[in-house]
Amino acid sequence: MGGNEQTYVNEAFQSNWIAPLGPNVDAFEKSIENFLGNDLKVAVLSSGTAAIHLALELVGVVAGDDVICQSFTFAASANPITYLGARPVFVDSERETWNISPKLLEEAIVAGLAKGKKPKAIIAVHLYGMPYKVSEITAIAAKFNIPIIEDSAEALGSTYKEKPCGGLGDLGILSFNGNKIITTSGGGALVTKNIELKKKAVFLATQARDEAPHYQHTHVGYNYRMSNVLAGIGRGQMEVVNERVKARRGNFDYYVEKLGRLTEIIFLEEPIGFYSNRWLSCILLPSYEIREKIRIALLEENIESRPLWKPMHLQPVFMGCSQFVDGTSEDLFNRGLCLPSGSNLIKNDLDRVIEVILKTLVV
Ligand SMILES: *Cc1c(COP(=O)(O)O)cnc(C)c1O
Repeated sequence: MGGNEQTYVNEAFQSNWIAPLGPNVDAFEKSIENFLGNDLKVAVLSSGTAAIHLALELVGVVAGDDVICQSFTFAASANPITYLGARPVFVDSERETWNISPKLLEEAIVAGLAKGKKPKAIIAVHLYGMPYKVSEITAIAAKFNIPIIEDSAEALGSTYKEKPCGGLGDLGILSFNGNKIITTSGGGALVTKNIELKKKAVFLATQARDEAPHYQHTHVGYNYRMSNVLAGIGRGQMEVVNERVKARRGNFDYYVEKLGRLTEIIFLEEPIGFYSNRWLSCILLPSYEIREKIRIALLEENIESRPLWKPMHLQPVFMGCSQFVDGTSEDLFNRGLCLPSGSNLIKNDLDRVIEVILKTLVV
């Protein structure tokens, strides 16, 4: 926590606003809107997953539709497609950002059109905080007139050509889950340019209650709004988001400084115009065996590290889904490792990690 979270939570208690609405919700939304700029509107919700679910519904996805989704991501990007009875079409990544490949995206769209089934939406992800190739992906989506849902769950504080991630798609989503760069313990947000869409999102997120003195419903709704108590935490967290990004980038730079000379280790560089919050510091090793050797050596020192996300097209739960893949994300999964990356790590912590890696690689 940064410092003022408790104050805002106390305000919620003192004013007795213990509800999924109230002054903290409004102020948290305002602070995110100020951070993202560009006149964007934000609705804070119970989770990033809820935000993706609502985004899909708002762009008109219904049962039987195809939705393109970056395969290299966390399962929460893809799960909401199935909540609506739609079908994910998984698209592999390119090597420069590890995100959705423009070439394979276009192939997937063209293949859909050829069988008379135009994909209804594209879920593109700024994985580990690195922006996807926004210009290329946006141009393809525009060419075929398909909306982009920008999964910015891991990328608050990242920018593409100086524009904040979260506001680059037709709809954007953020997450404030406990493991993200800032947190409300659990929470998320939907980002839109359109105030009417925000209103519709809030309507759906609060059980789709029609305007009437009694309880009247003409739509199926959800209970997805953020609590005023948690929004208090969010307000405090927004005051330190820039510090958190600085700390995460500091971790990454330190790993590069100490390990970057080793030919066995590859770090993902920022292409020109791409600015990553470096949510997690990730490395690529020469083989699965060496990756595992390092992961286990770290574990023996009681240091947790994790393989990169397992691509969705390789997940048992999504077996049988369409896929446009070229082996890139599978290779990243096999050789990649997320190193300890918390915003509260001190130099001594990082040195312990570095020492184990050096020892393991040098023998
Ligand atoms: C965390 C995450 C989500 C989901 O956010 P929750 O708030 O945990 O529901 C979606 N996409 C990606 C890429 C994530 O990392």
